[in-house]
Amino acid sequence: HCSFEMFNLPCLYVMCTTYGWVYILLKISELLCFHCCLHQSIWFYDLKTETAPLVVVVSTTGTGDPPDTARKFVKEIQNKTLPVDFFAHLRYGLLGLGDSEYTYFCNGGKVIDKRLQELGARHFYDTGHADDCVGLELVVEPWIAGLWAALTEHFQSNRGQEEISRVLPRASHISLRTDQMKPELLHLESQVELLRVDDSGRKDSEVLQQNTVNSGQSSALIEDFEASLIRSVPPLSQASLNVPALPPDYLQVHLQESLCQEKSQTSVTSVDPIFQVPISKAVQLTTNDAIKTTLLIELDISKSDFPYQPGDAFNVICPNSDSEVQNLLERLQLADKREYCVLLNIKADTKKKGAALPQHVPEGCSLQFILTWCLEIRALPKKAFLRALVDYTSNSAEKRRLQELCSKQGAADYSRFVRDACACLLDLLLAFPSCQPPLGLLLEHLPKLQPRPYSCASSSLFHPGKLHFVFNTVEFLSNTTTVVLRKGVCTGWLATLVDSFLQPNTHVSCEDSEKALSPKISISPRTTNSFHLPNDLSAPIIMVGPGTGIAPFIGFLQHREKLQEQHPDGNFGAMWLFFGCRHKDRDYLFREELRHFLKQGILTHLKVCFSRDAPVGQEETPAKYVQDNIQLHGKQVARILLHENGYIYVCGDAKNMAKDVNDALVEIISREAGVEKLEAMKTLATLKEEKRYLQDIWS
Ligand code: NAP
Repeated sequence: HCSFEMFNLPCLYVMCTTYGWVYILLKISELLCFHCCLHQSIWFYDLKTETAPLVVVVSTTGTGDPPDTARKFVKEIQNKTLPVDFFAHLRYGLLGLGDSEYTYFCNGGKVIDKRLQELGARHFYDTGHADDCVGLELVVEPWIAGLWAALTEHFQSNRGQEEISRVLPRASHISLRTDQMKPELLHLESQVELLRVDDSGRKDSEVLQQNTVNSGQSSALIEDFEASLIRSVPPLSQASLNVPALPPDYLQVHLQESLCQEKSQTSVTSVDPIFQVPISKAVQLTTNDAIKTTLLIELDISKSDFPYQPGDAFNVICPNSDSEVQNLLERLQLADKREYCVLLNIKADTKKKGAALPQHVPEGCSLQFILTWCLEIRALPKKAFLRALVDYTSNSAEKRRLQELCSKQGAADYSRFVRDACACLLDLLLAFPSCQPPLGLLLEHLPKLQPRPYSCASSSLFHPGKLHFVFNTVEFLSNTTTVVLRKGVCTGWLATLVDSFLQPNTHVSCEDSEKALSPKISISPRTTNSFHLPNDLSAPIIMVGPGTGIAPFIGFLQHREKLQEQHPDGNFGAMWLFFGCRHKDRDYLFREELRHFLKQGILTHLKVCFSRDAPVGQEETPAKYVQDNIQLHGKQVARILLHENGYIYVCGDAKNMAKDVNDALVEIISREAGVEKLEAMKTLATLKEEKRYLQDIWS
């Protein structure tokens, strides 16, 4: 977990599961000064005896899973042997973060919430579910605003002797560990600071602070401290929550015209092992008149031992576009300093309040490097960012407009102007010409440039030493002030890399092309995935993958072909594929390969539909989308899932397709098994638990 302990309220934990929500933590830090320990987990074992209120902020990943960092915690609370009153002592508030475009909205939070309730924990504050689809801030901001009142009420209703007894175990916990950790001293100091807020505690705490600073950390001192603490704990009041906020620009940046550190992009953007691999082939899978352009890229992994199996995804580490970085530097009047070395510093007076350097911004690299490889300069500017920009905008009309956009009343306006317009920082700076923010502010608010995940579209048995992946080249319009056509950060970059040796519908490898220089890209494995072929080769499987969602299934089929070659007498289960595209003659991806698999008897059933081709002749299927075809073959689908111990895999668009396929499956099961829809849903949930209904869906 990225977990956060708020030391100034003696017993408040905040558990937050992703760096991405640092925004929320910054909001929290405006109200409370806190010491934040990003790598110190609040584990289950701490909570078992913890009488402090717990605040959980949790995101959702994959198909409704909690993020990797919370898995251990979730697994532990899900232990079925725990008694129902296990957490009866615990009071908590929970903020779930998710995207309603996915089937299991905010499921990471919902799972934890439900289980804590089952184990006897109770809310001290209502749960919030923030939706990234419409803007997290719509729920996050009021939720955080309300949190303080709820906490105050909670502490007030539990103050007095009970409050003191809460402080005691924590204080003795400190005394046991002072020999190990310096931050604990900070811990003491920040408690003292809080006590000083209240008049009744002033004398004791001042003396105490003096002692703490002057006499080191002997256990006698700690015992003194505990004793004084008990005497000096004031009743908690709103005043004690009003600790001065961190200034918005706590991060100071110095640009020096000196030699920068040689950093490869790989060492700063990921903690996973990185492999630099050459592109050996690129193919355009769609015709030039297709609605979306789909490319296949082959990577040569023969010299890197990159581990993967069919169904895995992997990350591509990509840079921001040169021209966008250049435009941003020019607008910031820093174009002439692009090669300068970036040195970071925290303002002295804010250090103690928990301010920290952004982990994804390495020190000593050039400005150009940081803007190119470390920061998501395309990120949608959050309201908190707009609010911070106000202070650096000189024109009063522009200032007012920015204030409007980040006000509560301006929510719809913000959605229109920023979210719907796909605005990025550069768009804002162009729309507000008098805004001249310092570099530190940008480094603080721009999130980490994330690597982009792609599904492996090959099997290493079939293509030894090679890894294939496919993607659509993304293009969209950004229209804050002027309309600009933008390409996807990663797909635009990849398309440019292979442009010189790419021919429509022609497999051209780098070796074949005289122009090409075999560019290398950096990739890293993604390991937490269960989207794999079943171990039982005789189990029938159903694959549903319209558009580029077909990618992992090509790997499945290639793998199966090799296995069948190796074991000609093996008992191999049926393989069904439901594929859909727009036009038979434009974007029917892997058409020849699928015919081949059918001919070889690897693929036993291929059901394809074309959403924008007019039906021709009698034999044309009336199905428009994959789920229509699934309905048409509902009997077989139900039989495979309910009676033949089969598997169903769904890959592709999360927003509509995966939901509609899920609905179709509910209908089919309800119809074929003669049960109510609710019962059919439960059956699907069981299939999911048994990992026989697997999804790899992205928005
Ligand atoms: P797509 O946009 O999903 O379109 C493929 C077909 O699906 C079209 O015929 C489209 O029809 C149809 N469709 C539209 N709405 C549908 C619905 N509600 N139910 C069923 N079918 C529907 O294909 P794509 O552009 O290739 O996108 C695939 C998705 O898979 C993306 O979200 C992508 O991120 C994700 N993905 C990609 C990879 C990868 O490795 N690149 C891997 C896994 C997943 P109309 O447009 O005519 O309505």
